[in-house]
Order: sequence, then structure tokens, then C-alpha cells
Amino acid sequence: MTRPRTVRRVRPAPKPAPFWLRKTLAQMTRAEWDSVCAGCGRCCVLKIENPDTLEVDYTNIACRHLDLETCRCTCYRNRKKKVPECLDLFRCKPEVFKWLPESCAYRLLAEGYDLPAWHPLVSGAPDSTREAGMSVRGHVIPETDARWAPAMKPRPS
Ligand code: SF4
Ligand code: SF4
Repeated sequence: MTRPRTVRRVRPAPKPAPFWLRKTLAQMTRAEWDSVCAGCGRCCVLKIENPDTLEVDYTNIACRHLDLETCRCTCYRNRKKKVPECLDLFRCKPEVFKWLPESCAYRLLAEGYDLPAWHPLVSGAPDSTREAGMSVRGHVIPETDARWAPAMKPRPS
């Protein structure tokens, strides 16, 4: 009688942690960096800084270059030319991230948190930020909306 062959069960190799947990923001490639943005559009609203406390309040008025449906910038590559004060966060010092919304993916990683379940990198679904209601879609009005035009300057006397 021949002995039955023994088959050793092979454990699958553990999956490596995703890049956003293995690397710091400073170690990411540009493509990895760009993919970390959840496309929520929350950083693309006008903000008001209190000159005394330096606290920043977010308004419901979106930058004129934000697509209010996709919540993506319509001029991403040229945005510095169109809006000089628009920051390119790539390689910015981590202190800068504290000015971003609390749910911002860069801020979460900079503060040692993982990405949330609704983030497209975690869900695998490109629209998951909007589907989870985490984007500004439906919550903001365009900067160009006449109702929100800046107050008229007083007439010169
Ligand atoms: S708040 Fe952060 S995650 Fe949202 S669009 Fe801005 S940079 Fe991207
Ligand atoms: S220029 Fe683009 S990235 Fe900058 S605030 Fe406006 S919509 Fe956002």
C-alpha cells in the first residue's frame, strides 16, 4: 500500500501595506501624491481668516474654477497662473496641512490617520467620495454667482 501524499497547505504571502501607509507624504511620487486627493473640493472654497486669532472659516462659495459636479479643478495644470494664491501642496511642509479641512486626505495622513473607507484609493471606486456625500457637490455656490458678488465699493467722494 502506498502512503498517501502529504500536501502542505501554503499560506498566502501577506499583502504589503498600501503605499499611503508605507510612505510618508514626502516620500510619495507625484502620481501617488495626486491619487491621495479624494476630490472632495473642500479646499477649493473661499476662506475667511480672522486677523486676530488667525482662525480660518470655510464659506460655501466655491472657487470659480471648481467644477461643481465633479468637484475637480477645471484648470489644475494652469491653476497657479489663474489663481496665484492657489497652493500646490506637493512637497509643502506638513505644518501647511493644518489649514486644510479635517477630512482632507493629506491632513489625515500627515496627522497619522489612515484614509477613510469612502476614499477612492480604499473603496476602489472613483466616485466614492461624492457617493458618500463627502464632497462639496450640492453644498456650494459658485464665486461668480451674482448673489455673492462682493459688496460694491463706496462711490469716491
Ligand atoms: S480637501 Fe484635500 S482631499 Fe479634498 S480636494 Fe482638497 S486636497 Fe483633495
Ligand atoms: S484654482 Fe483649482 S485647485 Fe485652486 S482653488 Fe480654484 S478650483 Fe481649487
